[in-house]
Amino acid sequence: MKENRKRTIKGIRIRTLNLILILISCVLYILLIYATVHVSMRYQTMISDTHSYINCEKNASLVSDGSDYLTEQVQLYTVTMDPQYAAAYFEEANTTQRREKALEQLKQFPTSEKAYNFFETAIDNSNKLMEREIYAMKLISTAQNAGEEGIPQEIRETVLSRGDRELARDAKIEKARSLIFGNQYQKEKRSITTNINHFLNAVVDETKAAQEESAAALKKTLVHQRILISILFLQTIITFIMILMLIIKPLQIYIDCIKEDKTLELTGSYEFKYLALTYNDIYEVNAANQAMLQHKAEHDPLTGIMNRGGFDQLKLHMKHTPNPVALLLVDVDKFKNINDEYGHSTGDEILKKVARLLEKSFRTTDFPARIGGDEFAVILTDMRPSMKSVIRNKVNAINKMLQNPNDGLPKVSLSIGGAFSQQGFSDELYNNADLALYDVKEHGRCGCSFFEANKKEDGKN
Ligand code: GH3
Ligand code: MG
Repeated sequence: MKENRKRTIKGIRIRTLNLILILISCVLYILLIYATVHVSMRYQTMISDTHSYINCEKNASLVSDGSDYLTEQVQLYTVTMDPQYAAAYFEEANTTQRREKALEQLKQFPTSEKAYNFFETAIDNSNKLMEREIYAMKLISTAQNAGEEGIPQEIRETVLSRGDRELARDAKIEKARSLIFGNQYQKEKRSITTNINHFLNAVVDETKAAQEESAAALKKTLVHQRILISILFLQTIITFIMILMLIIKPLQIYIDCIKEDKTLELTGSYEFKYLALTYNDIYEVNAANQAMLQHKAEHDPLTGIMNRGGFDQLKLHMKHTPNPVALLLVDVDKFKNINDEYGHSTGDEILKKVARLLEKSFRTTDFPARIGGDEFAVILTDMRPSMKSVIRNKVNAINKMLQNPNDGLPKVSLSIGGAFSQQGFSDELYNNADLALYDVKEHGRCGCSFFEANKKEDGKN
């Protein structure tokens, strides 16, 4: 029955909730770690794309610097005819190779075929232009008639056309200058620059696009990361609220209930409700046992009325009542003789009969008790001396019934001593009632006497 009741308990199980929260946390943390790794990867990509973009721009500028430098040196050589410019030209063309190295670098950047065609055309044109420049330098060196020594290999290996070989010195110089400064040279140079620019623009645009794309991807991943952190924060808050509502609050309520010695309120998670129901079951059984034990401790098993223990408890309880109280001490007359004559069990029946009569004759607010073998007491609450006659009438009626039995039991009588207290129970009240009882016993038994401070009232009949 109790188990059935427990099976119907409704509530969230902390164990289940805990499992769910652990699973959610694991998933969220794994996603967060994934997002963080992704962010760092995206960041690295963005950094490398940014570096590529910067390198691209740097190489683009190196291409034009290298190219301009070559043009400058060849022009200076044709104008000044100073071989140091030819040497500087070849130093740049063969060793420094700013333009070649930069173009080589730029070739590494992934780009479209169209852009690459611009690059190839520019390189072809550039090689042709270099041939023209070297040819011009050959013309100058031949015009100078400087001999082979100190002349760069490329110039030495260049062969002039027969017509140019036969030209006069000045004509050679003139031709060389026209080759370098002429419209054709400028046109070819522009064509190279235009092709290089087309290629560079394409590479720069594509690198820039890649850099922008990786920046956008990084931004998106950061947004994902922020969302995950917010969900984790929310989950932490929910966990705290759950702990508060399902564990901390019910614990506090349970502690309060235990302090107030009450059954536990069904609150919190399934486990707490189950504990509360179990505690309440034990509490109820315990309370019933305690009530039974207390009843046993305070009641006489033979007559069922209060025993000496119960009477003493009541005495203590009534010590502090502000109301008037009366006490009757009752003793069965010559009870020993009943036992001797009719046997102990008949004696027991007489004791039960006396208890029943005392219970029936007095009010429910009065308390009869068996305080000894054949001794009884009745505590009468809110009872004043003016009610003596009422008490006496009741006692007389009881004695009448005991002396005219119709239940087959032998005749008996009771001696009763009474006393009054204006306020609560006291030892004096007991002693006074005992004196009154003694008085009845002394004066022939079967009667009732009340203690009087100055004179003793005899109620014998
Ligand atoms: P008195 O008029 O002076 O009171 O004379 P008495 O014979 O009644 O004397 P007392 O009150 O001293 O005797 C009480 C007797 O009650 C003694 C004892 O054998 C008997 N008694 C005590 N408890 C029980 C009980 O539980 N059952 C029975 N049957 N008798 C009991
Ligand atoms: Mg007696």
